[in-house]
Amino acid sequence: MPGRSIRIARIAGIPVGISPLWLVIVALITWSLGSGYYPDQVHGISRLASYALGLASALLLFASILAHEFGHAVVARRRGVGIEEIDLWLLGGVARMTSQPKSAEDELSFALAGPAVTAVVAAAFGALTLLLGRAETTAMGALVRYQAEINLLILGFNLLPAFPLDGGRVARALMWRRSGDLSAATETAAALGRGLGYLLVGLGVLTAFNGAPGGLWFAVIGFFLIAAAGAERVHAQVTTMFSGVPVGSLMSTPASLIPSRSTLDEAAGRFAEARFTAFPVTDSAGRAVGMLRIDQLERLPLPRRGGLTVADVMNRDPKLRVTAQTDVSELLDQPEFVEFGRAVVIDASGHPLGVISRTDIDRTVRARNLYQRTA
Ligand SMILES: [Zn+2]
Repeated sequence: MPGRSIRIARIAGIPVGISPLWLVIVALITWSLGSGYYPDQVHGISRLASYALGLASALLLFASILAHEFGHAVVARRRGVGIEEIDLWLLGGVARMTSQPKSAEDELSFALAGPAVTAVVAAAFGALTLLLGRAETTAMGALVRYQAEINLLILGFNLLPAFPLDGGRVARALMWRRSGDLSAATETAAALGRGLGYLLVGLGVLTAFNGAPGGLWFAVIGFFLIAAAGAERVHAQVTTMFSGVPVGSLMSTPASLIPSRSTLDEAAGRFAEARFTAFPVTDSAGRAVGMLRIDQLERLPLPRRGGLTVADVMNRDPKLRVTAQTDVSELLDQPEFVEFGRAVVIDASGHPLGVISRTDIDRTVRARNLYQRTA
């Protein structure tokens, strides 16, 4: 997703982040509901009260989406899949799993858990709406009814069989269960996702041209779907290609090392003479303790390098130290590796054996694609 998310809370041990764009969405919802929707719904409402209702609606929507994602997270955890974090972004949320679901049954219950929560939320707001009566719409009545409607809409949209929407995940799980072939199921589900994406873009542009600018929302959602389905497809292909492939078979050896007590000037010299853009860092016993990437030096202006050693600026993340037996597909699911671009491969006693980089993996992907094209 564009832009990094900002951590806002930790609920039940799961970090919750929001994309900065979410604030823009909250403002947009507040404005559109406060200026148009609520003045229409509630007779004689003041301007201020109308915008307050708009803001309350946006925040309640935020809470509803969070509840939906926790539905996914709780089920994933119960099935032994870790949840890295929950991100709320432009048009919804995503519960980021630490690994792929292991079976079609896991995927199915994970995919259905979020919509199940949304269904309960929609039903609860619906019941409240009935309780409050609709003879004369009060501010509270309008607020509650809007939540019932928007959650119902989210539920319906979410269950469309278009990957990576939840409905698309359900469809993929069902196909996976029947054929036993996850990558074929992903291909089909992603094709459906892209198809629906194009349909939404077309519909959105058409409605916008017919004088309903709100239609552009559909186009935005459509674009998102096309991109997300494409990304999931590539991810699934790469995961299939590398599951069962050990890191040791793709790493570059021998590892060119740099001691943690080296000064940064010495490190700069190493970068100048070697053709590497990163070095594994070792302690005095020769064990890997981190990695130094060239841009970590570049970021420091020359005068600030004095007196500092490699140990002061290196990346110490233990997730960037892997064994030769680690599955490459697992490594690719590690956000720390994807971001840093490389990891040091160590033996049982922690000594570096080599380096595995995204470049090594990309080269393999391209070489295999080349082979498939010529074969
Ligand atoms: Zn969901």
